[in-house]
Amino acid sequence: MNQFWKEKSFEQMSHEEWESLCDGCAKCCLIKLRDSKTKTVKFTNVVCRYLDLQTCHCSDYPNRHENVPECIFLTPELARHLDWLPKTCAYRLVADGKDLPWWHPLKTGDPNSARKAGGTVYGKVVSESEVDDADLEDMVVNWFE
Ligand code: SF4
Ligand code: SF4
Repeated sequence: MNQFWKEKSFEQMSHEEWESLCDGCAKCCLIKLRDSKTKTVKFTNVVCRYLDLQTCHCSDYPNRHENVPECIFLTPELARHLDWLPKTCAYRLVADGKDLPWWHPLKTGDPNSARKAGGTVYGKVVSESEVDDADLEDMVVNWFE
């Protein structure tokens, strides 16, 4: 197995290697609330309206930034410093010098292994198209961090 993430910096990775780090968990597609006083970020179990809840893939990936201006465009710099990236996010793990989990598709060779291992949002979220903004505070959860 080519464990390039242990040997290369983000900047040394090819575009394909960088993209393949994403495990497809879709946790970065969750609606987040930032506490105005503490500035901490809280995750909800509500997910962006463009996420396909069956596949956990963006339904319009090429146009995601036009569709959702706040949709993240992850860079090495952000991977190192973004405070709300989930602890399981592969980019955060690698930025922190940690290995990928056993269920990561790069380790298993199975593109669905993250989902099979329960590592994605599959089955745990509702779409924001089904939720009133006023109810988001009531949908904060702590198991996506
Ligand atoms: S949280 Fe990280 S690993 Fe998960 S989908 Fe987002 S970028 Fe990919
Ligand atoms: S636009 Fe797509 S990639 Fe961006 S947050 Fe929504 S579902 Fe996720």
